[in-house]
Amino acid sequence: MLIFYGLNMIRISKLPVILLISCFYASNLEAQSIFEPQVICNGFCSADSILFFSEVKSGDCLAKNSEDSLGLHQIKFKNSQAIPDELLTVFYYYPELAHLKIQVSSKAIKQTMNCRPSPLNIFRTKPNRRYNLIINNNKGKYIGLKFNELSFNIKVGWLGHELAHICEYEKMSTMQTIRFALKYVGSKEYVRMVERNTDLITIKHGLAYPLYDGTDFLLRNKEISAKYREYAITNGLSLSEIKCFWCSLPTVNE
Ligand SMILES: [Zn+2]
Repeated sequence: MLIFYGLNMIRISKLPVILLISCFYASNLEAQSIFEPQVICNGFCSADSILFFSEVKSGDCLAKNSEDSLGLHQIKFKNSQAIPDELLTVFYYYPELAHLKIQVSSKAIKQTMNCRPSPLNIFRTKPNRRYNLIINNNKGKYIGLKFNELSFNIKVGWLGHELAHICEYEKMSTMQTIRFALKYVGSKEYVRMVERNTDLITIKHGLAYPLYDGTDFLLRNKEISAKYREYAITNGLSLSEIKCFWCSLPTVNE
């Protein structure tokens, strides 16, 4: 009786692990379609177009988009630095995400900014998912870029990249999100693939120059650590790739 009880205990304690591994493999094939394994731009864009280099400025989109018309009342600011102008502006480029519940906060994190699904989303239905957008307050171990000192254009580009991550999460089922998180933590190649796809989504949403401006700033800024610069070069699209993808957009060539 004791032996039987003991075996059952082992099985029960391993159940979450077995369940997680099963889900991981079950969602494996399905998740392949979310990311392009190779994000490569064929061609070269030499155009120094005024259209490409037009900055997003504070107030550019606010007149066209009030908080109410975008439905941004779902976005909550918690201990955050004052960034509503940048957020209002960036949602002009992502109107499909404006209805989502996003909590913006500021705390000590490894990166300058990150955007993750709430861990409680595994218990929520898709329409009730929540996302956390966190900006590094630079009070912890890892000092990122000083967000408030960046230009408006760069801030919008940076936020645009984070919202592009939400576009990816929104395409995933709960199991795919779990699989994504495990792979993102465990594989450098996967991080590169995800980040390049995310940059491409940012460009497709009309934020090629803000993304370019932010990447250029990262590469030029001497205060940024070599490690951080290396991370950006390895994982993000290069300046010429950003231009090349922008040139290949149908709207540019119309
Ligand atoms: Zn990213």
